[in-house]
Amino acid sequence: MSAAVIDGKACAASLLQAAKARVAACVAGDATPCLAVVLVGDDPASQVYVRSKERRAEETGVATRDHRLPAHTTTAELLTLIRELNGDPAVDGILVQLPLPRQVDSAAVLRAIDPAKDVDGFHPDNLGLLVLGTPRFVACTPQGCMRLLAAAKVDLAGKRALVVGRSTIVGKPMAQLLVHADATVTVAHSRTTDLASEVARADVVIAAIGRAEHIRGAWIKEGAVIIDVGMNRRADGMLVGDVEYAEAAQRASAITPVPGGVGPMTIACLLSNVIDAAERRAGLR
Ligand code: NDP
Repeated sequence: MSAAVIDGKACAASLLQAAKARVAACVAGDATPCLAVVLVGDDPASQVYVRSKERRAEETGVATRDHRLPAHTTTAELLTLIRELNGDPAVDGILVQLPLPRQVDSAAVLRAIDPAKDVDGFHPDNLGLLVLGTPRFVACTPQGCMRLLAAAKVDLAGKRALVVGRSTIVGKPMAQLLVHADATVTVAHSRTTDLASEVARADVVIAAIGRAEHIRGAWIKEGAVIIDVGMNRRADGMLVGDVEYAEAAQRASAITPVPGGVGPMTIACLLSNVIDAAERRAGLR
């Protein structure tokens, strides 16, 4: 079998295209969607992520407000900024780029964001609503994975889904979304004793580990669907996922590439969440 490639770039482009009409309706309702972006320090990877988020926002008509703070910023200083943004009626979404410098209490900062502006979906209130099956904002990467599965017309009901990774940003919300889509879900992590066997039983594999090509192609069940969240730089400089792509594609029925799979969807879902918030402000939802 040679897998169909699930094209994240195309899927993200169509989501952003649809977003433009939603932005126009918000603007007409005097609620131009606005994302406040908070970047602390000068981590080069974070700067690249923030730039690409801001570029996509501009293309989509979502306004951004840039808050760049020095690396020595304290928790108290960040909390003051978050409180200001919470109180600003023109700001629909607040994004604090992670990771924050070591001296900052990241959990305290994320909890300080008004849950109604928490477009990353990391606030305990939003994670709780997701568990209850009544989400307000769904974390962008897992949301993007679900949209890719829908685009590939994967019927999840009754399927064995394996999520590899249990982070709050990807693995845990991902598992919840799959449960709500009626899949039978297993979550694997660094203490899982036999990952190969878990992968071999799975109809759907979501890989969110952060280890280059850790999931071997030979482990994949014939016909499985593979969503590869991982983004890893190999020693030869190549960007690869958590799954051994070429070998996995021989066995899977559908697979996301890296790059060009989950990555573009994460940004598109972030902007979609900002527009959701602006639609609420404009009384459109
Ligand atoms: P974390 O480091 O927070 O979590 C990694 C998870 O993988 C942990 O739960 C860890 O287990 C698990 N793990 C580590 N080693 C193994 C192993 N040998 N076998 C099974 N599980 C293992 O990472 P994130 O969730 O933030 O990100 C995961 C990957 O996804 C990274 O490559 C990241 O760059 C990428 N990413 C991509 C995004 C995109 O838009 N495409 C967005 C977000 C992330 P334990 O809990 O036991 O430590």
